[in-house]
Amino acid sequence: MTRVCLITTGGTIASRRNETTGGVTASIAAADLRATLRDPLDGIDLEVDEFCNVGSYAFDLPLAFALAQRINERLADPGCDGVVVTHGTDTMEESAYMADLLLASDKPVVFTGAQRPADQPDTDGPRNIADAVRLAASPTARSLGVTICFEQEFHAARDVTKTHTTRVDTFMSGEHGKLGDVDGEHIAVQRRPTLRRTYAPTSVEPNIELIKLSMGTSDGYIRYAAANGSKAIILEAFGAGNATPAIAQAAAEIVAAGIPIILTSRCPRGRVKPIYGNGGGKDLEAAGVIFAGDLNGVKARILASVLLGPGADVDLRTELEFLGG
Ligand code: ASP
Repeated sequence: MTRVCLITTGGTIASRRNETTGGVTASIAAADLRATLRDPLDGIDLEVDEFCNVGSYAFDLPLAFALAQRINERLADPGCDGVVVTHGTDTMEESAYMADLLLASDKPVVFTGAQRPADQPDTDGPRNIADAVRLAASPTARSLGVTICFEQEFHAARDVTKTHTTRVDTFMSGEHGKLGDVDGEHIAVQRRPTLRRTYAPTSVEPNIELIKLSMGTSDGYIRYAAANGSKAIILEAFGAGNATPAIAQAAAEIVAAGIPIILTSRCPRGRVKPIYGNGGGKDLEAAGVIFAGDLNGVKARILASVLLGPGADVDLRTELEFLGG
């Protein structure tokens, strides 16, 4: 028997409509979620562990860190062959990437969820859980790091992002593409992630702001973040990594004051590069801003929270430049 641990956290996959409030709410207990599986999962012993029961929009960085620790605790049991985590789709990619950066095992860890609540007749939850469990039970999924399995595909935590608000084929990995497919009992791995490193901080740094630029954004918010306790600031900038002249000036002052600024792009594909002057990437490079390659803003924030956690003991720029790709 292969043993897989199913850690549940809530999300749409564990949600039904509350008749009193009308709101769809995470409320289905782990054992009841397990009972929704119609697939017999022959040869796999599935044990459940309820971590929490909330919508993933209610997660924060310390809770995602605690979840990553719970995953590592489960994997440390020699009888556990792999872990599946059910999680809301809204921030699943963030928790998955946090767990990937903190992963202390080469056993498979697979996140999944649903776009349609558990009380809808065509909910995608039970199929996604069954596929994720098969993947977590498979020796071919070892050393892939943390993956997200959804709608028969699985993706690297670093690359995957939620791309559609309601469709079931929401998770995509941009130009990097999926890692592989789960087709019933057949698992096909098409590529293995290369941009992975793991860390062991004792907690994560929660005070990191992500600021998205739009045409004519003022320098007010970035200065506010720096003056109000941010330990790092992620800029989701224009195109290949450009800001306004006022923001580039503020960035130079903030970096000089010892607060790192990390540059990402608001484009869904491609990396940031120092090309333009007059507030562009060339000026941001001169200001000492760290370029995060093609990591998106939310992933760069997760990475910074881990790298700045006590005990991580690494150089922020070196790690970001490597993992940014
Ligand atoms: N739409 C979300 C979900 O799929 C809600 C959440 O993230 O919890 O689970």
